[in-house]
Amino acid sequence: MEGAGTMAQEVRGVIAPGKDEPVRVETIVVPDPGPGEAVVQVQACGVCHTDLHYKQGGISDDYPFLLGHEAAGVVESVGEGVTDVAPGDFVILNWRAVCGQCRACLRGRPWYCFDTHNADQKMTLASTGQELSPALGIGAFAEKTLVAAGQCTKVDPSVSAQVAGLLGCGVMAGIGAAINTGQVGRGDTVAVIGCGGVGDAAIAGANLAGAAKIIAVDIDDRKLETARSMGATHTVNSRETDPVEAIRELTGGFGADVVIEAVGRPETYKQAFYARDLAGTVVLVGVPTPEMKLELPLLDVFGRGGALKSSWYGDCLPSRDFPMLIDLHLQGRLDLGAFVTETIGLTDVEKAFERMHGGDVLRSVVVL
Ligand SMILES: [Zn+2]
Ligand SMILES: [Zn+2]
Repeated sequence: MEGAGTMAQEVRGVIAPGKDEPVRVETIVVPDPGPGEAVVQVQACGVCHTDLHYKQGGISDDYPFLLGHEAAGVVESVGEGVTDVAPGDFVILNWRAVCGQCRACLRGRPWYCFDTHNADQKMTLASTGQELSPALGIGAFAEKTLVAAGQCTKVDPSVSAQVAGLLGCGVMAGIGAAINTGQVGRGDTVAVIGCGGVGDAAIAGANLAGAAKIIAVDIDDRKLETARSMGATHTVNSRETDPVEAIRELTGGFGADVVIEAVGRPETYKQAFYARDLAGTVVLVGVPTPEMKLELPLLDVFGRGGALKSSWYGDCLPSRDFPMLIDLHLQGRLDLGAFVTETIGLTDVEKAFERMHGGDVLRSVVVL
């Protein structure tokens, strides 16, 4: 059996030690994979807003966190019973290993799986033996990490790891919001509100699906410029122009067939709601905070018809979507490389967090 008889290993990883404390590189202990688990040698991992939220205490208080969750690498060893991946496989990590048993999985809708899982064993801090909470069950700002084998999805190994890893989170969420949740089709009109990494990926997804018109909305002209390079055909600066009026004007007075809200705020959700054509679709992929409330005339919800949907992780099924999107990228039909702004080292994560607020970084990617 692969991996049997070796010892737990010590590697370097980026830890968030406590609320709002700067992150730091520490030695961590990665156990041998147990049944259903795999140890992955991480080659690249993108820096996501969610990592920053973990550091700030916005997700839970289970410090210390092992950060990083948009990663690709090579499987080093697997535990008992693992058959889908083997040592040497190049994989993208996902944060939702599908169970195959829950009511969603049994009804043939595993992308909604209600009982996803991560590794059972814990990685620990070498200095104190404290258990680490891996971000989104991954923890990949580390030379190696322990995950559930179902979190590893094999893709064509000729793709670069820094590009591939981004599919593990934000880029998949955006592309999936357009293709899976919004079901954008050939000739549709699409508007995307909020052009950060997820919004830009939604634009790229709409473009891939053959949308006739893709309207990008943001308050930052630099982001609108990037959105155009991702496939937006029109841009609206919503600081200067009412986006609902502008989207209607650009769609013959009607509104877009699909409007994707990639901000996660009540104001922008309302814009999405009213910028949509009758019987159109609103997709919420931006993540709101607990105190936010939405108020809409119920008659408008009824009268405008159509669908109001939320997109979890782009409603992706990693085993279906990751290899396909990597193939499209390798064929030159989806420029995933455009999402990588800079590559950095493990010790640069704190600086990358600071740069996030600048608005000129889509993704910093840690390369190991
Ligand atoms: Zn992420
Ligand atoms: Zn399930």
